[in-house]
Amino acid sequence: YKLVISRLSLVPLETPHAVLEFQETTLMKRTESMRSEFVANVSHELRSPLATLIGFIETMQSGYSETDPQDRNAHIRFLGIMEGEAQRMSRMIDDLLSLTNVELREHERPRGQVDLKGLLREVIDTLVARGRRADVEIVLSLPDVVPCVCGDRDQLIQVFHNLIVNAVKYGGNGGRVEVNVKATENGLPDGGHGVQIGVRDFGDGIASEHIPRLTERFYRIDKGRSRDMGGTGLGLAIVKHIINRHRGRFHIESVLGEGSTFTVRLPAYKGGA
Ligand code: ADP
Repeated sequence: YKLVISRLSLVPLETPHAVLEFQETTLMKRTESMRSEFVANVSHELRSPLATLIGFIETMQSGYSETDPQDRNAHIRFLGIMEGEAQRMSRMIDDLLSLTNVELREHERPRGQVDLKGLLREVIDTLVARGRRADVEIVLSLPDVVPCVCGDRDQLIQVFHNLIVNAVKYGGNGGRVEVNVKATENGLPDGGHGVQIGVRDFGDGIASEHIPRLTERFYRIDKGRSRDMGGTGLGLAIVKHIINRHRGRFHIESVLGEGSTFTVRLPAYKGGA
């Protein structure tokens, strides 16, 4: 708006108004169309597990013999697949709610004092305890002193959970995931010092054309693979919004065949500031 007004300051009064109104309408239309696109995406994403569920229910209802061991085995297998799909729908709804929650509060900066050392240990311990991929080692490197960051603890848990789970899921074939923490003096919007956390994997890496799109909702490089891993396509969108809310920085680097690093920078806690 500012730009339009200064550029048009020498023309008659009616013109800037017309331009502003036009811009406002364009903006509203764009927001409206983004909203419709989002609703269409959500409906599509929820419809696909539902279609699978309905398909299996119909198959199970037709021609089932309780005495036939083959039928019984097939039913047990079908129930397993159905449970997986229902769980995925449930995760998708949880992720959609998280995303909406973060978006609603994006302009309200979180002010808690968060000890990242303890938080990262907790996230990693929880993942290791679940032990889905014993073949991937998660290594946490911390300097002696890590400044506390300013933020919302639960949301930051979600950020590092999503990034480390992704590194294990998509880069786990490298056998190792590193979480490297260091204090940083720059790279933050307000110029103050903070903490940098890099989540690095040694997997196949990501082709450069995908990198700028990874934080879009529902963007997945390989839809089938993401689905098989129980993904929702919302994890990195949630990460981006949480980091924005914290006035932090989020950056993705990757080399094909070598692996990827997802870097987060968060402002240090300044004590009630
Ligand atoms: P999903 O639920 O599909 O994992 P995300 O938003 O978390 O959704 O990630 C989006 C996509 O980014 C994933 O489907 C995957 O293709 C890609 N991706 C995320 N993390 C990595 C990684 N560490 N290595 C390679 N690809 C990744």
